[in-house]
Amino acid sequence: MWKTIVLDILFPKFCINCGREKEYVCQDCLALIDINNSLTILKSKYLNGLYFAATYDNFLIKKAISQFKYDPFVKELSKPLASLIIAHLNILGKTKFSDFVLIPVPLHKKKLKQRGFNQAEEIAKQISKVLGLPLLNDVLIKIKQTPAQVELKKEEREKNIKGALFCQKPELIQDKKILLVDDVFTTGSTLEECARVLKEADAEEVWGMVVARG
Ligand SMILES: [Zn+2]
Repeated sequence: MWKTIVLDILFPKFCINCGREKEYVCQDCLALIDINNSLTILKSKYLNGLYFAATYDNFLIKKAISQFKYDPFVKELSKPLASLIIAHLNILGKTKFSDFVLIPVPLHKKKLKQRGFNQAEEIAKQISKVLGLPLLNDVLIKIKQTPAQVELKKEEREKNIKGALFCQKPELIQDKKILLVDDVFTTGSTLEECARVLKEADAEEVWGMVVARG
């Protein structure tokens, strides 16, 4: 409590949209974002479906995600970003996920060192608190460093991510239903490859859960 007050005085937060002091995205600006009101079933082999809170073309979403992921990394943006996912689930009326576990899309350890945190894991931590679901952050790991997906085309992305992931604790996910958390879903190559690895390790279902769909 005191720590928070002292930090607020030393490092005041300003809304990245309207500049108002107190939060990184104020409630008024958050309310401007259109929340997706349907669950997406994909035509993919491994991923069962996708929960996405909003679309990436929304300028505030884009700004929040870029300030969250790129230097100087505002780690606390995980809270408003995760709250969008929660808002999406509330609209769907889907707030109970019995027997589900949360798994964040992993980062390679070099990338993790560079950024200091895994953005998917930070969002997953917030969702874990709200939904009361276990977060497994050491089951799926990234064993191969890959170039940023953002500049690649779909086929290149698929090739790029192939063989880059490994399930190191399959016993923890056998017959489990998984919510695979990430910030952005673009072509889906990363989530699909994660889902493939998890299903080959005997996960029962794998659903994507992201802030924005590109
Ligand atoms: Zn604002």
